Amino acid sequence: MKTHYKFIACGLILLFCCQPVPLTGRRQFRLIPDQLLTSLSLDSWQSTLQQYGTITGTPESELVQRVGTRIKNAVIQYFEQENASDQLEGFQWEFSLLDDTTVNAFAMPGGKVGVFKGMLPVAQTEEGLAVVVGHEIAHVIARHGNERMSQLLVIQLGGIALQEALDQYPEQTRQLALAAFGIGAQIGILLPYSRLHESEADQLGLIFMALAGYDPRAAIDFWVRMDELQASVPVPEFLSTHPSHETRIDDIQKALPKALEYYNPQSE
Ligand SMILES: [Zn+2]
Repeated sequence: MKTHYKFIACGLILLFCCQPVPLTGRRQFRLIPDQLLTSLSLDSWQSTLQQYGTITGTPESELVQRVGTRIKNAVIQYFEQENASDQLEGFQWEFSLLDDTTVNAFAMPGGKVGVFKGMLPVAQTEEGLAVVVGHEIAHVIARHGNERMSQLLVIQLGGIALQEALDQYPEQTRQLALAAFGIGAQIGILLPYSRLHESEADQLGLIFMALAGYDPRAAIDFWVRMDELQASVPVPEFLSTHPSHETRIDDIQKALPKALEYYNPQSE
């Protein structure tokens, strides 16, 4: 193909694939139809739940459900007010506590959020947990899984379509999906979220927890605790992202005034 045709082709791809992330407005490159990605994600979700086992019927598991449901409902309500409900279409939210001592949490496209029980002692309080869950819900709503999976398809499989990848390399594609959804470390592929995705999820997570009536200032204390933990144990994946904790806490400080505009302590 002549070079200028390639430019035109790239331009067309960018034109059709670049959609803005809600609230931040950043344009992102997404190749994969939501519906297809959601079905792949459901597969990965079920196998992950099986692998670790879920905890149900305990005060801790109910806390995860409560925090998740409260933030999710507040976000749905906000998107309705903004006439942007279409951006949440097809999501089937689920919040689970997984029976593993790793200090980690993850989110999958379509609204599946998993919290490992090792996260709870660091979260400490309902608000601390809201920092974690708000952050994971933000990854879902900003469609970071789609963006990462799109990048992986281009890098690892030469840019073939997801359906084609699933037909030709089903196992490899499922492994890539797990890596793209943030739990690759457990299966041997380490793909840290980019600094961009992490800070975007931090920013949006603060707003989402604030919408649900959780004080976003709790995020500072939470990251200080994470920092202290890092000094004493090997770095878990949730921590091993590009922003150092110091940078992260600085960035959260800067994002707080905006998040506080959405904070209504009375809301439930
Ligand atoms: Zn994250």
